[in-house]
Amino acid sequence: MRKRYLTCVDCHEKYSDVDLTVPSHDAEASSHVDLARPAKMSAVRPFLYECPYCGGILQVGYEEDKNPGADLDKKSGKVSGMGLDKKSGKVLGMDSDKKSGKNAAPTVFSDFCDMNLAGMWRYKAFLPVEDKKNIVTLGEGMTALVRAERIYRDLGIENLYVKNEFSNPTASFKDRPTSVGISVAKECGADTVAVASTGNAGVSVAAYAAKAGMKSIVCAPKDTAKGKIAQLLAYGASIFYVDGNYSDCFGLVKEACQEYGYVNLTSTYINPYTVEADKTIAYELYEQLNGKVPDWIIVPIGTGPLLSGVLRGYQDLKALGLVEKVPRMVGVQAENCSPIAKAFYTNQRVCSEAETEHTIAGGIADQLVGYEKDGEFTIRQIRESGGDCITLSEEELFECWHALCYLEGIFAEPAGAAAVGAVKKLCANPAFHKDDRIVSLVTAHGLKYPDLPNRLENKAVVITKAKELRK
Ligand SMILES: [Zn+2]
Repeated sequence: MRKRYLTCVDCHEKYSDVDLTVPSHDAEASSHVDLARPAKMSAVRPFLYECPYCGGILQVGYEEDKNPGADLDKKSGKVSGMGLDKKSGKVLGMDSDKKSGKNAAPTVFSDFCDMNLAGMWRYKAFLPVEDKKNIVTLGEGMTALVRAERIYRDLGIENLYVKNEFSNPTASFKDRPTSVGISVAKECGADTVAVASTGNAGVSVAAYAAKAGMKSIVCAPKDTAKGKIAQLLAYGASIFYVDGNYSDCFGLVKEACQEYGYVNLTSTYINPYTVEADKTIAYELYEQLNGKVPDWIIVPIGTGPLLSGVLRGYQDLKALGLVEKVPRMVGVQAENCSPIAKAFYTNQRVCSEAETEHTIAGGIADQLVGYEKDGEFTIRQIRESGGDCITLSEEELFECWHALCYLEGIFAEPAGAAAVGAVKKLCANPAFHKDDRIVSLVTAHGLKYPDLPNRLENKAVVITKAKELRK
């Protein structure tokens, strides 16, 4: 069995992930993780949510595994023991005889995929769940990639693709991280999960917890969109409204998880396992674009784990020798709540914004109070990829939301549509060329904001005769 570990993105300290073959009372002895062990979590495998040494963000790594992409040789940029056969374009395994091909273990990306597993779980070799029996799935992943040919025709942009993440089971991309998070929670024997959410993550957690027979606790700002609350009610979550913003919810859930031992599935960088799931978007794009790497990937960001996860997926592919570059990653925020974008533009450290103005892009309204480091890590990822950060005003958000509906037939929530709206501003980036290949991640469905279309003029009239339908 491959060995999982956690590593700090700041001080690079490594922490052993608990050996799943060891009973939980012995696990403490084989790990550093006791520092973060909640007092009342004796029966459940302890979770580590931040570096005990420096408080930094933790990421999952893999040793001796089926996921060679995770163990990159920093010097050569290649995976140790692996190499690319330039002629065949195939990856050669450690024991292969490259000259004769005899006894070779050549492989292509599909050899890392388990085609017996549905949706994104075909990439299980890259995900932090060991035993198939612990996978909790509703069929997430394998979302459509649609070419958007009309919306920017006047700008001469023809290679824009929309990855429709709202075709996931609860209509948002969050089903990927939730599926992994709940599966790891199941693997650890947890019975309750909690999440701070502006809606989409809460809905997703509620659905997957229902599937797994777990309790779900959702803390949401009290102005959360109606469509999302309706979903939460249907899935049977314990809903708690907070008279405050997303960061207020984050603080309360963090404290409750420490105190009561719930597994925290909040979609910042706090749960290192959930971020792994976002890598699967990169693997899918690799397959959907026949190995061609997008020049730009545009991602709506609150804190930024989705952006980071997709980039990590491409880094895996590069380490495998399957692609030669990673895409430039672009983060999009609403002007009314944009602590990451402001720090990006000014080259300053990220400052949280306790007081922000309302935005229709509620799904990415993250004030970052108390976890500013998450924003800094996201900026680091954007810079390393040669990317950019873009903000959109409320008018621009509405305009791109509407245009995506009537020009491309894609009904997204405003935060998701922002990834398409940002293209216009990306044109000002000196590295951008009109014929670049762009992928915009549309993260959630428009039905979650059922009131928004009511802002449009409704010319519907009551008719009685067919001739009234004449054009
Ligand atoms: Zn650290």
